[in-house]
Amino acid sequence: RAYAHNCVAALEAAARAVHDAEAVLGDLDAIAGDGDHGRGMVRGIDAAVVAAGIALDLGGGAGTVLAEAGDSWADRAGGTSGVLWGAGLRSFGENLGDVTAPTSEMLLEAVKAFTARIRELGKAEPGDKTMVDALVPFTAEFRRQLAEGADVAAAWTAAADQATAAAAATAGLRPRLGRARPLAEKSLGTPDPGATSLAMVLTVMGPHLA
Ligand code: ADP
Ligand code: MG
Ligand code: MG
Repeated sequence: RAYAHNCVAALEAAARAVHDAEAVLGDLDAIAGDGDHGRGMVRGIDAAVVAAGIALDLGGGAGTVLAEAGDSWADRAGGTSGVLWGAGLRSFGENLGDVTAPTSEMLLEAVKAFTARIRELGKAEPGDKTMVDALVPFTAEFRRQLAEGADVAAAWTAAADQATAAAAATAGLRPRLGRARPLAEKSLGTPDPGATSLAMVLTVMGPHLA
């Protein structure tokens, strides 16, 4: 069950990063949204860490740990991003299965399942100023790097860097979906909170997952 431990460690690393960024994420969301993104992410990731630990103690493998973590994230976070994160994580886990040592191909497929689920559920397109604006470049770069023969850790790092740059670039966009849409003009010049936190979480998970 080696990889299940990596998954728990990845969630713990994400929790530390999200706790540190709680106020910043809340402030970003307060510009045009309702200001609860930092709080929601903290509630979601904390619940995910607890659920993952329980699943691991009960003998669950990697996929089970991540799927259970996703369910708790969605239950506890509240808000749009929590539902999407939770469902995405469950799809990632279901796609991966209870593997002990995933290949890079398996990880790519799981990342694609994560992305597809979030896009299917939220129905956001690139350019709508949502987490999808960081997620799509992440997935494309991860795939490209692996196709070019990069090892999985290097591919993940390059992909996370793309996500970080893309999240910052959402400052130039007007939100076309979600709670920030009515205040789209106010949002101009500020990066999307959900894209920002997504890039952050993917970055700190990399050393554990890849
Ligand atoms: P809420 O908007 O319900 O208060 P959060 O503040 O936690 O939830 O999350 C806001 C983030 O959710 C936005 O910054 C955006 O990235 C993301 N988001 C909102 N709607 C969608 C959607 N339809 N698809 C994908 N992401 C979305
Ligand atoms: Mg909000
Ligand atoms: Mg809210």
